Amino acid sequence: MKRARFLIALLMLPLLAGCRPHGRETCEAPGDNPIRYELTAMDTFMTMTIYNQPGDVAQRRLRQAAELLQELEGLLSVTDEDSEIYTANHSGGAPAALSDDTRQLLEEALALCEETEGALDVTVYPLVRAWGFTTGEYRVPEEAELSALLENVGYTRVALDGNTLALPAGMELDLGAVAKGYAGDRIMDLFRSTGMLYSIVELGGNVQALGTKPDGSPWRVAVQAPEGGYAGALEIVGKAVVTSGGYQRYFAQDGQIYCHIMDPATGRPVENGLASVTIVADRGIQADALSTALFVMGRERAEAYWRAHQDFDFILLGEDGTAAVTEGLEDSFSLYGDWEDHPLEIIRK
Ligand code: ADP
Ligand code: MG
Repeated sequence: MKRARFLIALLMLPLLAGCRPHGRETCEAPGDNPIRYELTAMDTFMTMTIYNQPGDVAQRRLRQAAELLQELEGLLSVTDEDSEIYTANHSGGAPAALSDDTRQLLEEALALCEETEGALDVTVYPLVRAWGFTTGEYRVPEEAELSALLENVGYTRVALDGNTLALPAGMELDLGAVAKGYAGDRIMDLFRSTGMLYSIVELGGNVQALGTKPDGSPWRVAVQAPEGGYAGALEIVGKAVVTSGGYQRYFAQDGQIYCHIMDPATGRPVENGLASVTIVADRGIQADALSTALFVMGRERAEAYWRAHQDFDFILLGEDGTAAVTEGLEDSFSLYGDWEDHPLEIIRK
């Protein structure tokens, strides 16, 4: 499925930037001097582009951003034995010391677990593994196995005191649903504070932009169709756009589809008629957390959550081909390509 994601990322580029990449750094439009950097980090193909800067200045910042991504990956990986998360997951209940980055990310993630009433839960790793998503050896666990695993799932039992983490023995953290959003925020902070004002990064399905394009027009971001290609186009100024979709990673068994996003309440992959949730918010971590959480919640609860908070907007694509957007996106989102004639509902306060 990594390959599929890579293709999705490549497909998105023409809309984002206007041409296909030929190497590490490529040119898209004359005059704007875009400098692009590509890398794979956190198991994800990523591109970062800075416009309107002297080449050497942009390149220095891009290299710094790439180092930051690699550093974060080194802290947060669930499989790298040297990472802080791996160490905490194998501490047998002993307190573990965290770096400031891991502490800040975990703190914000736990707050979002709370706010979404556990739809987001950073302790689902034992479930993700039991269904085979960590190795690709997919299987459908028995009910008894799931009940036993659920004993070790529950973010409320994660104790974070300053930079000290106490994780009960048997529990395991997985920050996969929020790490790329946090990383995007750190990169936006770096670019902003160093005057790289016209820039956009695409960390897999997470797009984060600063300001407008150099000519003052909004960035155009493609929203992927579940069956491939595009379903819509969205115009943004300085936002994070993050999509979680059941089609991104899944397996099929006996005619049933099982996706990589878990409902922490049941221990089973989400299955509620949603094909994808795209969140548009100021911050990447919020957009990333909510794309996963609202996908778990399903349409009705997602709408209720939005009405109660309203500091973000969303786009829902249904497995039945319907689409719905919150009213803040009414003028900036349009269905596109194969989805152009699908019904689009506006969700109002
Ligand atoms: P992706 O990062 O694959 O684009 P998400 O941001 O939705 O998509 O994160 C999904 C990942 O988060 C899964 O691969 C799994 O590791 C983890 N995860 C699955 N279900 C949940 C959940 N309910 N809460 C928190 N993390 C989850
Ligand atoms: Mg997410």
